[in-house]
Amino acid sequence: TLIKNHDLVVTEELRSKNMLKNHALAMSIADVGWRTFLEMLTYKAELYGRQFITVNPKNTTQTCHDCGFVRGTGSTKKLTLADREWTCPKCHVHHIRDHNAAQNILTKGIAKLA
Ligand SMILES: [Zn+2]
Repeated sequence: TLIKNHDLVVTEELRSKNMLKNHALAMSIADVGWRTFLEMLTYKAELYGRQFITVNPKNTTQTCHDCGFVRGTGSTKKLTLADREWTCPKCHVHHIRDHNAAQNILTKGIAKLA
């Protein structure tokens, strides 16, 4: 359904080795089988003539989608997994963590198309 209903799907590249170091995420990643999921998206995209792209996950969570500010630079701290929402210290836009990251992932994917 994801592939059928969208011309372009973008995800972060596989990084389960790093993420499995985080105990809180380890179980959910093991359950979902991220690698298998990405393989399914790849072959379904070929089947339906859609585009599926993976991007480097670096800073997708820490970057403000509105102004490009990166958390952890200057005097700011990086967001932790507990930080579900945040306000950009530079442009003061309020973000829902995962929505902001999704926008950054999509932007990186579109940039790869060019
Ligand atoms: Zn900002």
